[in-house]
Amino acid sequence: MIWRLKEKAKDILSNETGTIFKEASLRVALVYPNTYEIGTSNLGFQLIYRILNSITNISAERVYLPDSEDIKLYELGEDLFSLESQRQIGEFDVIAFSIPFEGDYINVLKILELSKIPFRSLDRGEDYPLVIAGGMATLLNPEPLAPFIDAFIIGEGEYITREVFEIVARREPKCKTLERLSEVQGVYIPSFFKPIYNQDGTFAGHLPSLRVQKRFVDDLHLHPAGSTILTKNTTFSDMYLIEVSRGCGGACRFCAEGFVYRYPRHRDKDSIIAEIKKAKEMGRRVGLISPMLLDHPDLKEIIAEAKKEGIQASLSSLRADALDEDMLETIRMSGQKTLTIAPEAGSDFLRRSVNKHFTNEDITRSAELSYKFGITNLKLYFMVGLPGETDEDVKAIGELGKAIRGVFPRGKVTIGVNPLVPKPWTPFQWAPFPKLKDVERKYQIIKDEVKGASGIKLSLSSPRLFYIQALLSRGSRRVSRFLELALEEKGSYTKALRKWESNPDFYTYRERRADETFPWDFIDHGISKRFLRKEYDKSFEGRKTPECVVPICKLCGVC
Ligand code: SF4
Repeated sequence: MIWRLKEKAKDILSNETGTIFKEASLRVALVYPNTYEIGTSNLGFQLIYRILNSITNISAERVYLPDSEDIKLYELGEDLFSLESQRQIGEFDVIAFSIPFEGDYINVLKILELSKIPFRSLDRGEDYPLVIAGGMATLLNPEPLAPFIDAFIIGEGEYITREVFEIVARREPKCKTLERLSEVQGVYIPSFFKPIYNQDGTFAGHLPSLRVQKRFVDDLHLHPAGSTILTKNTTFSDMYLIEVSRGCGGACRFCAEGFVYRYPRHRDKDSIIAEIKKAKEMGRRVGLISPMLLDHPDLKEIIAEAKKEGIQASLSSLRADALDEDMLETIRMSGQKTLTIAPEAGSDFLRRSVNKHFTNEDITRSAELSYKFGITNLKLYFMVGLPGETDEDVKAIGELGKAIRGVFPRGKVTIGVNPLVPKPWTPFQWAPFPKLKDVERKYQIIKDEVKGASGIKLSLSSPRLFYIQALLSRGSRRVSRFLELALEEKGSYTKALRKWESNPDFYTYRERRADETFPWDFIDHGISKRFLRKEYDKSFEGRKTPECVVPICKLCGVC
């Protein structure tokens, strides 16, 4: 069966532009713990692929989670292999995971299993590759994965990747390598630290007590911004992605990205236009990626330049309050037909509580305008389970959807709803995850409200999956056992929860004490915990916190 898997890999490669084929003395298997289609759509993963291969004595090859059909073939006895040279993972010197989402943690174990590599770092001697991990999920809280990973990279990868791999390339014994790595700013070696718990199961700290200062890149313009690999087999199908900015100054109280990538940075206009020209040479559309796209001071000029070059530019999620006729004309110029707006809450007060200060009137006006400017597909994102939420707030989601539908007559309106996951490093980190029954009940309120309204599509995310996400993002090192059980149970979280000796609700439903020590507190993101707590308290009053004003403001402690 191996030939079928290899043929498939070759077929994937034949559809790619930008693949790097390289042989070097240190071989790195760069793993995205999800499928090829999802992983290749991730710009961060592509940038790390390029950085690693730019180091002289290192070759990096990609590995993805096989799809379910192929997993069955691997389970018949084949070892998982890399895409570029189809070399078995166990033959690489390093396995480097890039993990953006907690939902992929189980896939990290699955990939180790398919590669016949022991999960726990303690069980991997010198004969096994060094296992390194980084990415957004572990930047927030690496502890649930701690027993499986030799070294975590905490922070943005542009510089630290080189520093780490230069040490690894010395090929010293693992313990020596880890010792050296522990001296690099932004590296966390979990086996060097023992977690301590209080009698009630809450986290007390690490021994020895530690702080790992995350890595931050303040000269983005010196680093690549665009896609490395282009292929039709991704979510964005052959689109050349360009990172326009990193971080967000909006201070939305639920959004981890808005806090751990502080302070916000825009790439300069010239470097973005240079990337657009590259896309043109390749004959591709471009996707401009940024959590605060409309805040870029030169966005209009950038889009005008793309238009001049004859390139279609697609814009990522937009803020309703910043959409004016000028901007919509710019969007029309780009040829984009779909617009995504994230009101988060149905009522103005609850929206203020997450620190978004535009109103239902603003959103409806933006929807009406966007319809006039040729947008035919409007996607609206909401959450339920926000602190202080009432049933009236939930009902207001449906009401707002209907009001928007009224001004968007022949277009398609999709209302997406999911439960809030109170993430580490956000002001909501003290809040509980909403009870599953309550989420279902709130979903029903929304369904009842839009019942009979034509042209509205409801897309309600699975509360159970979000419960697991809450467990994995808020858990301590003890949660690692749950992941092993989930893999033993062939990915069934329900069965794993039944077998697990701990109470998952302790990690999900429990509102944290104001003075509680969190398993992720040891990471130093530069943000003061007191600032985050104040933000949590302010949320109940719907009080506003201003956006970042770099470098004048000193509000959160980062600048
Ligand atoms: S100190 Fe002010 S400008 Fe800097 S990241 Fe914090 S809120 Fe933003």
